[in-house]
Amino acid sequence: MHLNRRIMITGGCGFLGSHLCDRLTAQGHDVLCVDNCFTGTKRNIHHLLDRPNFEFIRHDVTFPLYVEVNEIYNMACPASPIHYQFDPVQTTKTSVHGAINMLGLAKRVKAKILQASTSEVYGDPEVHPQPESYWGRVNPIGIRSCYDEGKRCAETLFFDYYRQHKLRIKVARIFNTYGPRMHPNDGRVVSNFIVQALKGQPITIYGEGQQTRSFCYVDDLVEGLIRLMNSPDELTGPVNLGNPGEFTILELAQKVIALTGSKSKIIYTELPQDDPRQRKPDISLAKKALQWQPSVALDAGLTKTIEYFDQLLKELGE
Ligand code: NAD
Ligand code: UDP
Repeated sequence: MHLNRRIMITGGCGFLGSHLCDRLTAQGHDVLCVDNCFTGTKRNIHHLLDRPNFEFIRHDVTFPLYVEVNEIYNMACPASPIHYQFDPVQTTKTSVHGAINMLGLAKRVKAKILQASTSEVYGDPEVHPQPESYWGRVNPIGIRSCYDEGKRCAETLFFDYYRQHKLRIKVARIFNTYGPRMHPNDGRVVSNFIVQALKGQPITIYGEGQQTRSFCYVDDLVEGLIRLMNSPDELTGPVNLGNPGEFTILELAQKVIALTGSKSKIIYTELPQDDPRQRKPDISLAKKALQWQPSVALDAGLTKTIEYFDQLLKELGE
């Protein structure tokens, strides 16, 4: 392994990508952040721009890119339902054409490449918790399909490049992750509830709030991604990365209200189409192969995230 590597992070201006940029720049690697700033923002990497080992290129991964790197973290893709449903055709293109372009680049320069896949490949699962061996239950023609099927096709491409071209690949299936630098208006449940609670607005629960999710704090997730990238070549994944603590959406709302001390009321609105009823990762593989497991409990992670949004809303004058 080279000590100082040239590492490209697509989607590096986004929530997860910018935290990866922070960690890998601090480790002394040459980091190249590639992003078209669709959902991410330069504000997330502003503090890195004058570092000699950090570089930013504005580029859309649906077009080819010619650079020389040793490792690629392919994080580019809108991740929240509001954002990925805004232009669903572009979402599929980003996952599929983006994967083809980044895999082609990895093949040309013999780079190792990691794909940010998702628990959405399991769809609305009948197997609970979800192990990597579960093939999922995904609607191919619904409003979430541009994201779910795009990510599934990207996984197919990664494994075909692995089998056909002997590429070094890593596939991480990321479960719901939260923390500072989430987009305040991306509609994801953690950011929505915190912003609503801080503004004293009603907390919007979709459906009856009995659907479950497992929430991983961003620092834990980033550690898992880096461990996976640095693992032996035989470990291609897919590897689930997430926090197995499982909460109903109603429990999450109650926690956010308690931790913010907000007077917000809970209101119940319509459940979106194909909203998965339950999700919880089986992380046995990550524990065994990466010696990884999350260490930040939900209350502690929410407290840090609330501090971030409180500061952000003050800066934005909201
Ligand atoms: P995000 O929206 O904050 O970040 C995505 C980044 O990709 C943004 O900076 C956006 O501008 C960029 N991007 C989008 N389309 C692009 C394109 N065509 N070319 C170049 N850049 C493009 O979302 P995030 O939560 O940081 O997610 C990062 C990755 O992790 C995504 O691939 C997402 O699918 C995956 N993931 C995230 C979660 C989660 O809970 N956060 C869960 C599962 C998977
Ligand atoms: N959700 C909710 N209120 C909100 C936003 C989301 O009840 O204001 C619910 C949503 O219906 C889903 C869960 O919270 O059941 C997680 O939603 P999110 O969009 O964060 O992630 P995903 O559905 O992709 O896991």
